[in-house]
Amino acid sequence: MSAATRQAIVIGAGPAGLAAAEVLAEAGWRVTVHERMPSPARKFLLAGRGGLNLTHAEPLETFLDRYGAARARLEPAIRAFTPSDLRAWAAGLGIETFIGSSGRVFPIQMKATPLLRAWLARLDALGVTLEARSQWTGWYGEAVTFETPHGERTQSPDAAVFALGGASWPRLGADGSWTEGFRMRGAEVTPLRPANSGFIVDWSGVFRERLAGTPLKRISLRIDEHVVRGEAMIATYGIEGGAIYALGARLRDAITADGVALLEIDLAPDYPLDVLAARLGGNRRDSTANRLRKAGLSPTAAGLLREGAEGNTLPADAEQLARRIKNVKIRLTGISGIGRAISTAGGIAWSSVTSDYALKSVPHTFVAGEMLDWEAPTGGYLLQACMATGRAAARGVLAQG
Ligand SMILES: Cc1cc2nc3c(=O)[nH]c(=O)nc-3n(C[C@H](O)[C@H](O)[C@H](O)COP(=O)(O)OP(=O)(O)OC[C@H]3O[C@@H](n4cnc5c(N)ncnc54)[C@H](O)[C@@H]3O)c2cc1C
Repeated sequence: MSAATRQAIVIGAGPAGLAAAEVLAEAGWRVTVHERMPSPARKFLLAGRGGLNLTHAEPLETFLDRYGAARARLEPAIRAFTPSDLRAWAAGLGIETFIGSSGRVFPIQMKATPLLRAWLARLDALGVTLEARSQWTGWYGEAVTFETPHGERTQSPDAAVFALGGASWPRLGADGSWTEGFRMRGAEVTPLRPANSGFIVDWSGVFRERLAGTPLKRISLRIDEHVVRGEAMIATYGIEGGAIYALGARLRDAITADGVALLEIDLAPDYPLDVLAARLGGNRRDSTANRLRKAGLSPTAAGLLREGAEGNTLPADAEQLARRIKNVKIRLTGISGIGRAISTAGGIAWSSVTSDYALKSVPHTFVAGEMLDWEAPTGGYLLQACMATGRAAARGVLAQG
């Protein structure tokens, strides 16, 4: 049979599914993408509201380490579609990118819409058909079944690529409801858990009212021997943001094991203790609030310092005060729900898929993107791995022929 007569279906029109569709269509396959929502890539569009952090420009070895335990499994897919390849791919769609000060890569427009529009136009030109409001419901024998506005439909393609996403922000389409269907067909699925999510802190009413929604910049966070520098955001329910997400897996494990995680924050990591103490020493007639401000602490940082202090009082002695600033302890008592998380940990276990992303228990079936069991911090690692695995799964289809 010639490639032109081979038919693939891709289920899920997020970045992983669209990447798979592109590679298959370029190889001459007839491709239909089924998407349960009325329009594709809603989470990708939401990511655009934060500027669309597509990938990261750090050295590839460091980049790969961000995937922790899943590095070995993801590495071949990412080496085959590296961060530089992703930038070149975007440029090929007419979307130039730039490297931000932290090494994160964004489209110059800092939006997802122009990129998605160009991508969909390319897929259309390649002959890819998009079936919106077509919801995968399971298998009937070897056939794949869908619920559509025109009733139930079955499809028996030469290959199917599933890219159904995780379970965060369920109203955007990916809700993790696929897990049972896959388990019933013999796949092992690690329970889905929030990743890159905030943590619950029992703030005092005053602190919450005054400082929720404000950032803590240039801080360093620590749990056990793990230290991360960056930013965090005070939320009404607790704390969130990049540096928190970077420690997320450790914090989550501590809470799961002990019910609580003790997070240590250095509010002035750029200053060694003696330098900070000298800066605070200045004019002893100054109020503590003024001394903190002059030492460079933001109102949010000063508020956090008082929040943990007995009776909200801080030591007058400069060295003691500096010690406090460099070690504020907060108790995280829970994980914010998966519905508000940026991404999902858990998913189809690597033991259930081949190195070609084929599901071992269902013939001609491949899986990609966030529905696989990996996690990574924010920084562009999520979209990079979703697209790289989507493309790798498509190559797996081509290899099977
Ligand atoms: C607020 C927010 C901001 C983010 N910002 C960034 C960022 O800047 N950089 C970054 O790298 N990552 C970011 N992410 C994460 C990134 O968007 C996701 O990791 C990525 O979209 C996952 O891609 P995916 O294709 O695997 O799944 P998804 O994008 O979730 O796509 C899965 C698709 O499958 C469809 N689907 C599900 N079930 C069915 C079914 N039964 N039948 C048919 N279709 C179905 C869904 O409707 C959905 O369209 C962000 C996420 C959020 C929530």
